[in-house]
Amino acid sequence: MERLSELQPIFIDTLPENAALEPGKIYISRKHNVAKLLCPDGCGTVSVLDFGREGWKLTESDGKIMIHPSILETACPNRAHYYVTFNRIQWL
Ligand SMILES: [Zn+2]
Repeated sequence: MERLSELQPIFIDTLPENAALEPGKIYISRKHNVAKLLCPDGCGTVSVLDFGREGWKLTESDGKIMIHPSILETACPNRAHYYVTFNRIQWL
């Protein structure tokens, strides 16, 4: 599978089970300050992002999300590293 260039945010209170995650979608629970997605390089790793006080910052406008700082998925065999800016994935 190729690296993705875009993520579609899905705002949902309760995150889906890992087996129900679809590639190209990031599931975001504002209620629990957490997000989950399949690693966008296609490796199948499930990434969990904590937006708590010490975690990533999520901003949203018009359904487009930005996440800072960059995301480095250390469980990914390719060590995927990227920014999400207005739903676009910028690979590092
Ligand atoms: Zn990966």
